[in-house]
Amino acid sequence: SAASVPKAAGAPSTGKPPVTPDSVINLDHGDPTMFEEFWRGTGAAAEIVIPGWQTMSYFSDVGNVCWFLEPGLDHEVRRLHRLVGNAAVDDGYHVLVGTGSTQLFMAALYALSPPAAAPMSVVSAAPYYSSYPAVTDFLQSGLFRWAGDASSFTGDAYIELVCSPNNPDGAIREAVLPSGGSGVAVHDLAYYWPQYTAITRRADHDIMLFTVSKSTGHAGTRIGWALVKDRDVAKRMAKFIELNTIGVSKDSQLRAAKVLGAVSDAYELPEAAQHRLFDYGRRKMVERWRVLREAAAASGAFSLPHETSAFCNFTKETAATNPAFAWLRCDREDVEDCASFLRGHGILTRSGSQFGADPRYVRVSMLDRDDAYDIFVKRLSSLH
Ligand code: PMP
Repeated sequence: SAASVPKAAGAPSTGKPPVTPDSVINLDHGDPTMFEEFWRGTGAAAEIVIPGWQTMSYFSDVGNVCWFLEPGLDHEVRRLHRLVGNAAVDDGYHVLVGTGSTQLFMAALYALSPPAAAPMSVVSAAPYYSSYPAVTDFLQSGLFRWAGDASSFTGDAYIELVCSPNNPDGAIREAVLPSGGSGVAVHDLAYYWPQYTAITRRADHDIMLFTVSKSTGHAGTRIGWALVKDRDVAKRMAKFIELNTIGVSKDSQLRAAKVLGAVSDAYELPEAAQHRLFDYGRRKMVERWRVLREAAAASGAFSLPHETSAFCNFTKETAATNPAFAWLRCDREDVEDCASFLRGHGILTRSGSQFGADPRYVRVSMLDRDDAYDIFVKRLSSLH
């Protein structure tokens, strides 16, 4: 059988195994495999070849604050932000590269927490991304520690994580605590791209985090970037990455640069216009949200956040928000733990309790492959 045929030496892994109608469907992680279909179609436009002798040095750009940043990635990051209009990259912004935006998040905590008598408090308004508390506290640093929901925080020294659109509920957010003094905000804009939401303003916060994981779907490449206004903060973040991993894979940076360049080319070069990532992504997300809302209504047992919309400066059209996660509430009186209820029906999700919220809620990934997503929606509609 196919299963017993050994893989060719060097054949790449393919991620989660294929699903069948009886499979348990795992939508716990935000694994962005939905985008594979798009990138199957782009061919050489998103391919790179790296000869054996290249990318061997630790260094990329010795004159840069981020000395391990490939200039080609710096260029494509700025080019894409200028095209989309979602974030300011001029006026002295530094680009820092990280092994995913997860490493840059840790670098920001380090950079913003000078050694002091008491650790810096790290907060975010609930429901907040479940990795924020986990990543903040796993090494039990003396520099910073998780202090919970920003909405109920009292104190004047803090780092507030602002995720917009928010993981898990898709809400468009602003900081809830004041900036200035000893309070600083880190803006996680992983989902501030046209496939998920209207681009309503050019964000120009002090520290903004982005990632290819959610913009193009290349989570396995493990490349994120930070746009940082202050040179000293940028230097401290680069120092963290130097101490943590002595830089970031150049091979991955070159691949990320190629992929981001292919996204921009499709909007800027007429000959590349048939493969437009944000058009594809928006079409998919609109359709997925449409069938999900139908399924929730058909079941009568679930509710979803209300749809909001706004004028998108990138597409020049009014667009609804199509979050990368569904924040699903189970309305059945007899269900107090929605995640275990769904698990009993072969659907793995992440409990609201992990986001500092009610376990009647779960977070469901909207970015899986079509086959898994279709089975999920069918199953959900049948749960009365
Ligand atoms: N921030 C948010 C809000 C996310 O949802 C994720 C991925 N789930 C990340 C950061 C981390 O992304 P990366 O793969 O770049 O580490």
